[in-house]
Amino acid sequence: MRISKQLLERIADHAAATYPDECCGLLVGQGDEVLAVEATRNAFAAESGDRFEIDPLDHVRVWEAARRAGRQILGCYHSHPDGQAAPSSIDRRLARSFGGPFGYLVVAIEDGYDCRVYSGRIERNGHIADAPLDLED
Ligand SMILES: [Zn+2]
Repeated sequence: MRISKQLLERIADHAAATYPDECCGLLVGQGDEVLAVEATRNAFAAESGDRFEIDPLDHVRVWEAARRAGRQILGCYHSHPDGQAAPSSIDRRLARSFGGPFGYLVVAIEDGYDCRVYSGRIERNGHIADAPLDLED
């Protein structure tokens, strides 16, 4: 998956804005290039612990707008406030319900500003595999 530094910065900003809560969102683009980052509500925001679910209404809204623009949803992202830059065991379990291939970014954010990004992809079998992120200027 390719993404510009600017868009990656927007994901980091979203993670900082919701800190110490988890944020989540969708990556919209064409082919393997992310062209837009859409922040979504976390349906599990009220629950503690590492759990996110993109609000279903937000998901449909983003999907319809992407389709009208000739784009697709290429993946999702969420943050791990003061956590690891890697999918958690809960993340790996929940990923099985996604249809792969699907981009999967995790942003670890420490103290509300220091971000590290994990890049992976949900494979067709539901497993999350490491996948390099191509950063562009
Ligand atoms: Zn997670």
